[in-house]
Amino acid sequence: MKKLGFGLMRLPCISGDGKNIDLERVKEMVDLFLSKGFTYFDTAYVYHGGFSEVAFRECVVKRHPRDSFTVTTKLPLFSNPDRAGMEKMFNESMERLGVDYIDYYWLHALNRNSYEFAKTSGAFDYLRELKAAGKIRHMGFSFHDNAETLDKILTEQPDMEFVQLQLNYLDWEDQGVQSRLCYEVATKHEKPVIVMEPIKGGSLANPPKKAEEVLKNADKNASCASWAIRFAATLPNVMVVLSGMSNLEQVKDNVSYMDDFKPLTESESKMLTDIAAEFKVAIPCTACRYCTDGCPMNINIPEVFAIYNTVKRDIHKKGEAREKYAELIKTNGAATDCIGCEQCVNACPQHLEIPKLLAECAGDLA
Ligand code: SF4
Ligand code: SF4
Repeated sequence: MKKLGFGLMRLPCISGDGKNIDLERVKEMVDLFLSKGFTYFDTAYVYHGGFSEVAFRECVVKRHPRDSFTVTTKLPLFSNPDRAGMEKMFNESMERLGVDYIDYYWLHALNRNSYEFAKTSGAFDYLRELKAAGKIRHMGFSFHDNAETLDKILTEQPDMEFVQLQLNYLDWEDQGVQSRLCYEVATKHEKPVIVMEPIKGGSLANPPKKAEEVLKNADKNASCASWAIRFAATLPNVMVVLSGMSNLEQVKDNVSYMDDFKPLTESESKMLTDIAAEFKVAIPCTACRYCTDGCPMNINIPEVFAIYNTVKRDIHKKGEAREKYAELIKTNGAATDCIGCEQCVNACPQHLEIPKLLAECAGDLA
């Protein structure tokens, strides 16, 4: 299998409405991707409020032969579902996707807390039953916690076949994310890795000036994003690297270097982990949007953080950022509207203290 996967979590939308996906643009994107022999698609029950799975059905399933693609989707445990709740979500995913089997089915975003719930609620057994019944081909989980927790899960659940990990050159040695240590644990347990967030929510596509210069000196034709994706794809136990593509240009760029993929040399990989020090990301939000759907104040949390991060990286952009923020809050809640309900905190795989961070943003951007 080619090592690039199409992440369906940041699809182009009409009028900024995350549930109103621009299907005509997505069709162009997936057609190009498939025409180059790439096959792997990744979605989830919760992406785009459920409409990512629907978009996949409309753009891929209805228009391409079933054996020309594979699809992954994920069972969320965020709302602590019982067995009936899990069955309901699985059946909804099948219906939205319009398929009669799912190639890869993951428990979504396990960490030490949700793992305990997954065990007691029978979620792992439910995956086993689905596999035995032929409704899913492979089972595994996506993961957001430290290497020790991953080791515990893989030791206790040895029949899980794959792990989806947050892995990129910025988080490679990060003490919180522990990309390298988690990768090593998965490899020790002989579980192939699917990589998510290889570009860290887009931040490695727009690196600080100094880091960009290093990358351009190494290869003036290569995009900054390409270095990040190739870093992850170079690792031998990585099966596929997901890129959450949002427009046709990104698909063109990604397929151009992943079509005939050349792994990085050791010194190129080292160059990337060395420049990680240049990145000062004030708020390490990956723009996954898990927090936004349930916010009662309709705050576009990842966009507020992205604007704030721009200011923190380059103080000269403060005026521009304030204008952008003023525009954003015409149609969304302001950072100061946060009522501290913490719905978002529980949903955030990066464990960000969102209400506190929003208060910081409000101070700088208002
Ligand atoms: S804590 Fe604030 S930002 Fe988070 S969901 Fe509640 S109102 Fe929205
Ligand atoms: S704040 Fe957390 S949940 Fe929300 S988009 Fe950022 S990383 Fe995702």
